[in-house]
Amino acid sequence: MTAMCLPTVYLNGEFLPFEQAKISPLDRGFVFADGIYEVIPIYAGKALRFAEHMRRLGNGLAELSIDNPYSNEQWEKILYTLIEKNGGGDLAVYFQVTRGVAKRDFGMPKGLQQTVFMMANPLPLPKAAVYEKGIACVSLDDFRWERGHIKSVALLGAVLLKNEATQAGADECVLFRNGHLTESSASNIAVVKNGVILCPPLDNLILHGITYELMIELAQKAGMPLEIRRVKRKEVQTADELLITSSTKEVVPITTLDGKPVGNGQTGPIFKKLHQLFQDYKKSLSAAIVEKTARAAE
Ligand code: PMP
Repeated sequence: MTAMCLPTVYLNGEFLPFEQAKISPLDRGFVFADGIYEVIPIYAGKALRFAEHMRRLGNGLAELSIDNPYSNEQWEKILYTLIEKNGGGDLAVYFQVTRGVAKRDFGMPKGLQQTVFMMANPLPLPKAAVYEKGIACVSLDDFRWERGHIKSVALLGAVLLKNEATQAGADECVLFRNGHLTESSASNIAVVKNGVILCPPLDNLILHGITYELMIELAQKAGMPLEIRRVKRKEVQTADELLITSSTKEVVPITTLDGKPVGNGQTGPIFKKLHQLFQDYKKSLSAAIVEKTARAAE
């Protein structure tokens, strides 16, 4: 089998070639999807919003009563070693923590040694054409469980929804629950109407996307009108623009919904502005690193 990720992975305290990483079939992650995952985008070897990703990882583990196996400092050290061992650059680093290995039983065993797995992949950012033309989505009912804020490895709902979207000839889905917008299978969604960005609240029905939070922060700092509130299906159907965000997409415009153009079917001014703000933010990060490195070398 060829490596599906970059050559060196991290498993339970060791950096290993991917082929040598082995996990017990009784791992609760395998048997019950009893674990949490995280994906951090890495730009030029530097993690974007590391502290925020760690906060979400910690919150998810707490929700499942799994002790966080490492402090943020320990996670950071492992992360940067993994980045270095895989040549740095632009990566998506995947983290997974499961409750550990135990006899198959629905009860929640205490005191297990958590399984910790990390791998690095090239950051699969969309091609320029995607930012220029946008993507096509279909509306689907959000049938997932009501703890969408937990970044659990139980992703079958998302897999089925993504597949339904693909089968319908679309790139992604826009999900609705009880007549309100939730999110997409693996991304958050915001709506633009009359120049205002409408953002579904970070409740228990959606993942608290780090990119989504960053987009909200950048928009608010730039003085762009923005409301955090529930958004009705009708408002999505009559939107001027739809935006989809995730760590591996940044902000991407949705220009077709259910076979119809969103607004005029072109990428809109709010998307363009947010895309620019995002690029500026990334540049400011790398400038800060260059400055820090230069100071350290003095
Ligand atoms: N919603 C869901 C359901 C997700 O799985 C993800 C992550 N792929 C997101 C939103 C976006 O989160 P982030 O911006 O932190 O990648």
